[in-house]
Amino acid sequence: MWHRLRILVLLLILASVGLETWRAHSRTSAWNRTLHVGLYPVAADDSPATARYLQSLEAESFQEIETWLQEQARAYGQGQVEPIDIWLAPALRELPPLPPRQADMLAAAGWSLKLRWWAREHSHIGRLKPDIRLFVLYHDPERTPALPPSTGLERGKIGLIHAFASRAQAAQNAVVITHELLHTFGATDKYDLATLQPFHPQGYAEPERVPLYPQRYAEIMGGRTPLGPDQAEIPAGLRQTLIGPATAREVGLLPPSP
Ligand SMILES: [Zn+2]
Repeated sequence: MWHRLRILVLLLILASVGLETWRAHSRTSAWNRTLHVGLYPVAADDSPATARYLQSLEAESFQEIETWLQEQARAYGQGQVEPIDIWLAPALRELPPLPPRQADMLAAAGWSLKLRWWAREHSHIGRLKPDIRLFVLYHDPERTPALPPSTGLERGKIGLIHAFASRAQAAQNAVVITHELLHTFGATDKYDLATLQPFHPQGYAEPERVPLYPQRYAEIMGGRTPLGPDQAEIPAGLRQTLIGPATAREVGLLPPSP
């Protein structure tokens, strides 16, 4: 009796977790209502320049991401409703749990659970409850010239993003933030992890372009603009990026392939 009851309870928990994940996915892939994205700035170091930069941030600083996503959605016949509205949260005083340095599946899964647990403390901005939460760790570029990799989790709809506390880097920060945001929508990476070279065709903004090189844009999940089969450059800003058809299918802007 107890045995059966325990199984029943477990099944119920699994079903509700599954249902919540499915609901969250169908919310982000429907494109028929505005999703609220909470952006939580965090100082990654104690540099006065970082602190000043955090103070200078305002919701307007992220407007270009909202506009870009709406333009991309429109290019696929969606975007009648503004896809996202970014809410800027007050800067957090504590760092989120950081991912393990080693590429270890089990450690990564454990970290993702830890992050989701930690993020429960930050489920609201005032009385508002965002659909997606992006924790953006700002680094003083003088102290950290190369940033650690950023992460976006579809489960839990959380991004942990490393960015530069510098106005000159704001346009590139926007590309990284948008890339991780799209991971929370279910988009996958489309580049070679070892060489960082985008995969053809799925990681190309214009995979059918003749001649193929140089590409004019970077596919947002491909990450870089291919200039040749073994050469690619980081886009300077969102203006130089697109959502390609493969990503569009993953996030629901195009029907899934048959
Ligand atoms: Zn990625």
